[in-house]
Amino acid sequence: MEIKLEQKDAADWIYRGEDWKVMRIQKVASNSSSRCLVDHTVLTEHERLLWRELEELISSPTKESAELLYVQHVISPLLGPEHVDAGTHVLVSREFLESIEKKVICQRPAWRVDAAKIDTQRNFVLLMSDHSLFPSGILNVGPCISVEIKPKCGFLPSSRFIAERNVIKRSATRFRMHQVLKLHEREISELSQYDPLDIFSGSKERIHKAINDLYNTPQNNFRVFLNGSIIFGGLGGGTNKTSCVIEKAFEDALKGVIQADDGLRTRSFIELVAETVYSSRVLDRLLEVQKLDNFDIEGAIHAYYNIISQPCMVCSELDEARLQPRYASLHSIPLDESLKMVKDYLIAATAKDCSLMISFKPREDTDFGSPYSSIYLKSTNQNFDYKVNFIDLDLKPLNKMETYYEKDKKILNSYVQAAETKHMKGDTLVMEA
Ligand SMILES: [Zn+2]
Repeated sequence: MEIKLEQKDAADWIYRGEDWKVMRIQKVASNSSSRCLVDHTVLTEHERLLWRELEELISSPTKESAELLYVQHVISPLLGPEHVDAGTHVLVSREFLESIEKKVICQRPAWRVDAAKIDTQRNFVLLMSDHSLFPSGILNVGPCISVEIKPKCGFLPSSRFIAERNVIKRSATRFRMHQVLKLHEREISELSQYDPLDIFSGSKERIHKAINDLYNTPQNNFRVFLNGSIIFGGLGGGTNKTSCVIEKAFEDALKGVIQADDGLRTRSFIELVAETVYSSRVLDRLLEVQKLDNFDIEGAIHAYYNIISQPCMVCSELDEARLQPRYASLHSIPLDESLKMVKDYLIAATAKDCSLMISFKPREDTDFGSPYSSIYLKSTNQNFDYKVNFIDLDLKPLNKMETYYEKDKKILNSYVQAAETKHMKGDTLVMEA
């Protein structure tokens, strides 16, 4: 039976976070004045070539179904179906979307509202289970606490296509270098101490440090939800350093979940998250998928121009002396090889940009045969059920390759420039107070 959501159903939906954790609705840019009712260009000609092995995906009638099929057929087998929910396609009426839009407008951060509005011309939305909650049952009334972590890229590239002048890439993570650019552009007010290499390290101590650093400077990489409502971290834009006021409020909010005295709950919560990341080993698979990018953008960009059959903008910028055979050789590889390079790069890009939602509920003594994994929190002597889901698994458009290349250049330039004017301690930039 097909489900259709009508206007009267809109009241049942609550806006949460920047994405609909329960319903993903296509947004349109506010400045796109005219748009076709029927979208013929879900995938471009070259994207259909790129994903040609996935018949269903390339013939998707809507962007939503393309996203769904991408998660189902590409991402889920890589990350493990037990941690991935592709969602379900649901038919909606235009009135439903208009009602939702009215409800959402007052709840979204202002700059997000300006940037995009809900596309009310769509017939379908993607319905997903709310991963910040456990499926509710009659016996399941306890509190549920969830943490959303955006770990970002967890390895240092070693591609031979990285230019000499960009050699710093091999020793400083993309996240840390990007922090410098963000600081320079005043997108953040201070550098985060978080290093993705820690959370992916497999070492208990380093994972603990990573969670602690994320808690101290959550930016848009760390959020906590209690029974589905956000209690820590920002909606949309993210927050900067965790203040005493925020710390106190968070400590109080943990009261019903973490059984510890005042002043000790946050510490125990961080321990709980770190222990779970460590023992679930769920980030190992994510790292493997991120590593599909083994040529780096400095290699993959050349393959991109092969696919779109355009003169390579990167090679044309290099003068004869600097145009090394290793780049030229990339333009004589078979098309299949170019397709694989770029496809792997884009899949890795999804994995570098996705988030992890870990949800916990205290385990009752009577919970025999719980379908969830459990974790023991030593400091409070509590057992928790937990589940892990990867979210925000977007299909990256092929034409983003140029953007990726430009962004990479910009991040490196700003980092190198900052390093020249400020002090460097090893590979770490030390900013002056
Ligand atoms: Zn080239």
